[in-house]
Amino acid sequence: MANKRDYYEVLGVDKNATDEDIKRAYRRKAKECHPDLHPDDKEAEARFKELNEANEVLSDPDKRARYDQFGFDAPGMDGNPFGGAGGFDFGGMGGMGDIFDQLFGGGMGGAARRQGPQQGNDLRYELKITFEEAANGCEKSFEFYRNENCQTCHGTGAKPGTSPTTCQTCHGTGQIRTSGGWMTTVRTCPTCGGSGKVITDKCTSCGGSGRTRVKRTATIKVPAGIDNGQTIIMNGQGEPGLRGGPSGDLYISVSVKPHKLFRRDGYNLRLDLPISFTQAALGGDVDIPTLTGPVKYRIPEGTQSDTEFRLKGHGIQQLRGQGKGDLIVRVRVEIPKKLTEKQRELLRQFDDTTTGKEYESRKSFMDRVKELFN
Ligand SMILES: [Zn+2]
Ligand SMILES: [Zn+2]
Repeated sequence: MANKRDYYEVLGVDKNATDEDIKRAYRRKAKECHPDLHPDDKEAEARFKELNEANEVLSDPDKRARYDQFGFDAPGMDGNPFGGAGGFDFGGMGGMGDIFDQLFGGGMGGAARRQGPQQGNDLRYELKITFEEAANGCEKSFEFYRNENCQTCHGTGAKPGTSPTTCQTCHGTGQIRTSGGWMTTVRTCPTCGGSGKVITDKCTSCGGSGRTRVKRTATIKVPAGIDNGQTIIMNGQGEPGLRGGPSGDLYISVSVKPHKLFRRDGYNLRLDLPISFTQAALGGDVDIPTLTGPVKYRIPEGTQSDTEFRLKGHGIQQLRGQGKGDLIVRVRVEIPKKLTEKQRELLRQFDDTTTGKEYESRKSFMDRVKELFN
């Protein structure tokens, strides 16, 4: 209990948030971490659970008031704000459909909003691609789940030939008003979930929800130069709209695997190149790896560690441009850690030939030290 995050923080709203604010924040966040869109992602699952718990409390005026006053220790919360519901079952696919409906289908809008056409919900998908695929562009096909209108009942949820009837609990208003002394509370009708209608003869294909989960395949052209975390929107590929409303969109968030050698810096690439201390001193030709294969480069004599040089045009293709970035190579001079006796002897012989002028920085450093103490 002690390390639980504040419910307002979880939803990303402040304490003055209206019911609408909370609803909106919940919807937005739920899409980001819904387990259907992130299969086998434990972190997303945990976030989703935490989010549902926060929403369960903050969307209920009574629970919210108690939480505001007493925090997690509020009477009646008992560490389980779901109450009798006992949390969600994340194990099987069976339970998933229900959650999906709560999130994206029913339960969200007020009775008024349910009458007219309503745009379908947006979906989010995380597309994982390699570094090279991001650099060169690629075409990718992937599978995702989408709630679509049930083919049998065309989304009504009622058995073909029957139609939903007016809810007897709320008489079609979708809301229940309770007067307690001077206070009247309004809550969503539990019988019809706010729709004002109940289905007496449920469609057997969808169990009355009017929606079925369908596995779809989408193919997308990923443009060259896309970077980790960028989003591509596929218009109209989200969930179908309600009552003739347009479909939602599919947001594809691109996740680029890091490269073993290169780091991306805007449209430039960065590479650390280890060279031997003799290569650094004598200079010489080296093969530098680039995304399109090795390129010869002449290291000049006397190259210092951390020197950077630039291979023009060997970076990343600009997303909306003609040019390419550069490859920036940083030289790392490596000093051998183990030497044979013969190698040591050769280096000592070399050292005997030096006068001190060979080492510019060291000489100027020593000169400054001398000034300091004389
Ligand atoms: Zn159906
Ligand atoms: Zn009702």
